[in-house]
Amino acid sequence: MIAENVKRLRSEIPDYVTIVAASKTRTASEILEILESGLKDVGENYVQEAEGKFEAIGNKARWHCIGHLQRNKVKRAIEIFDIIQTVDSFKLAEEIDKRCSYLSKKMPVMVEVNSGKEENKAGVLPENVLQLITEISPLKNIAVVGLMTMGPFTEDPEEIRPSLRLTRRLFEEISKEKIEGVEMKYLSMGMSNSYRVAIEEGSNMVRLGTIIFGERQ
Ligand SMILES: *Cc1c(COP(=O)(O)O)cnc(C)c1O
Repeated sequence: MIAENVKRLRSEIPDYVTIVAASKTRTASEILEILESGLKDVGENYVQEAEGKFEAIGNKARWHCIGHLQRNKVKRAIEIFDIIQTVDSFKLAEEIDKRCSYLSKKMPVMVEVNSGKEENKAGVLPENVLQLITEISPLKNIAVVGLMTMGPFTEDPEEIRPSLRLTRRLFEEISKEKIEGVEMKYLSMGMSNSYRVAIEEGSNMVRLGTIIFGERQ
């Protein structure tokens, strides 16, 4: 099942788009199937849940943090994750930088954008993203490599198109600023019900769960 789904998606989705398998609630053996089917990128939402899977699988996968990260989890998170997609404050960035400096690590991070400007939603408001990235850029043990967004939750992917378009525009504006230490490589947007629209709007990284693994329990 999983292997067939990956094969079908990989042939449909252009090669320049990285597929991150969103593996919350899935087992280590399901993740191993993902790796066998040729994907390498795996996204986890919770440090504690990722920990056990990381112990079983290790560096065979490239681990993305795609859930909200609390500062008191950073110490463990940087031992697991290869990239953190959900930086949404300077304080969080500073903590990642400090903890990485102890390990002589440089962590690629993305800034999560609250592109639907929703209250109580994770991410930075679009109008504050450039300033946050400018503030983060001097930190030596962090490299900003792109933007991530969820967009509003809706059944109809057309309803999130404006949020995705806004995020793409922001991505391009920030690229043009040529901020030292910032390389805007990844635009992470698109989930199972929205990845087609997201790719049309310029995404080069989609995070797919249900469409690969089936419905979550
Ligand atoms: C669960 C999750 C996804 C994937 O969602 P599906 O609808 O199952 O594809 C993508 N991104 C984030 C941040 C998630 O938490």
